[in-house]
Amino acid sequence: MPDAGTPSPPLRVAIVGAGPAGFYAAGHLFKQERPVEVDLYDKLPTPHGLVRAGVAPDHQKIKSVTRVYDKIAAEDGFRFFGNVTYGKHLGLDDLRRHYHAVVFTTGAQVDRRLGIPGEDLGGSHSATDFVAWYNGHPDYRHLAFDLSAEHVVVVGVGNVAVDVARILCRTPEELAATDIADYALEALRASGVRTVTMLGRRGPAQAAFTNPEVKELGELEAADVYVPPDEATPDALSRAHLDAAPDRLVEKKLGILEDFATRAPSGKPKRLVIRFLVSPTEILDDGRGRVGGVRVVRNALYETDDGRLRPRATDRFEDLPAGLVFRSIGYRGVPLEGLPFDARWGVVPNTQGRVVDPETQQPVPGLYVAGWIKRGATGVIGTNKADAVETIDALLEDVAAGRHLAPPEPAAAASAAAVRRACPDYFSYADWQRIDALETEQGAAQGRPRVKYVCAEDMLAALGRGG
Ligand code: NAP
Repeated sequence: MPDAGTPSPPLRVAIVGAGPAGFYAAGHLFKQERPVEVDLYDKLPTPHGLVRAGVAPDHQKIKSVTRVYDKIAAEDGFRFFGNVTYGKHLGLDDLRRHYHAVVFTTGAQVDRRLGIPGEDLGGSHSATDFVAWYNGHPDYRHLAFDLSAEHVVVVGVGNVAVDVARILCRTPEELAATDIADYALEALRASGVRTVTMLGRRGPAQAAFTNPEVKELGELEAADVYVPPDEATPDALSRAHLDAAPDRLVEKKLGILEDFATRAPSGKPKRLVIRFLVSPTEILDDGRGRVGGVRVVRNALYETDDGRLRPRATDRFEDLPAGLVFRSIGYRGVPLEGLPFDARWGVVPNTQGRVVDPETQQPVPGLYVAGWIKRGATGVIGTNKADAVETIDALLEDVAAGRHLAPPEPAAAASAAAVRRACPDYFSYADWQRIDALETEQGAAQGRPRVKYVCAEDMLAALGRGG
């Protein structure tokens, strides 16, 4: 077979997962001089992954990154196939038939569990479900959240926990100016939530949230933020670590939290409390199978052999009132058909993005990963750029060395025909752009950035392809 990409046929790459990592992977492929064709697949009809279904609706500025993705989508050789599910409409054999390489950028869809009694009581939810629900993710729109509880506990102090706490504290008017799903807007309008308590298992110096995100909690229109003063200051061990290795960003975070600790309630209708050095040990039953409270244990930090500070439970317990609990302790990837999976970390085993067979420790030819399914659920949207570049550089190095798949049907028309056969209701990027225009038009009429379609059927109908 002639070398892929020089002079023909072009290098053909399938990318599965149209979130930030998928787009950055495509973007880096198009930077090469060789002719490249990229087919980007997603199980949702719409592209952009967590930018659409994860980024909070009151954080519209972050979503403007999609302009970069639109530019990538405008490259010659780019095609989007939305509404096409890997493992259902197409499998690894199909992709091997049509492409020289396949990059999986499927992210991390499920939540981590706490593993404590009461976790499955009514009213105990994962933050990942709640986030996908209020963002109008088609697979989560049927979920129901009873928001009548007065007290909510959010376990975790990462940026997702901050998003959940902030959305619960926003006024209906603030939310009505966003692109939150209409059904979520109605549910939040009727919410009875008065206090939201976030639980950090370690101290303020180890809090995972970033400074702009936590600072914003102090500027909420309808909620007074509060941190118990004895929990806002770092313990002696954390202070010693900071003195030995000064960290400007952590000091800034501590300043923000210490400011929150000195604030007197100003009479706002809601209260957002951030606690540190506490872990939930049990979600308490209200006697009717629903959340009635959260038992927490006070933690103390200790230093591990590798110098990290970890929490250790003491014998001091406390019961917090709660009618609703969101666990927000991180996302995990799910296994992909035909690929190895590291169940402990929720990722596909890989070296610099090359999928690795755990038995032989050898790369699996032609298969790559980027984004959260490669490195776990860490970092912001931009982190995926360098991550995807690393993977694509590995892919290109392999292609240059002849280590690529040898697809028996490499023509672009052949893979498109296969998609049409398997999934006649697929969405192209042009379809998405039409949906995008309709959503933003409907939003403009209501003073909102967009009004989202939340299911493929409605989108097909809007495109005149329904029924
Ligand atoms: P995260 O940043 O990893 O935070 C997870 C939190 O859960 C940490 O506070 C962690 O504490 C805690 N935790 C883990 N296991 C726990 C347990 N068993 N009991 C109690 N607490 C536990 O994860 P995330 O909030 O899901 O966010 C994922 C990524 O998306 C992050 O990189 C985040 O910055 C990013 N993100 C960014 C934005 C934004 O930029 N606005 C918005 C949303 C998400 P320990 O530190 O002690 O492990």
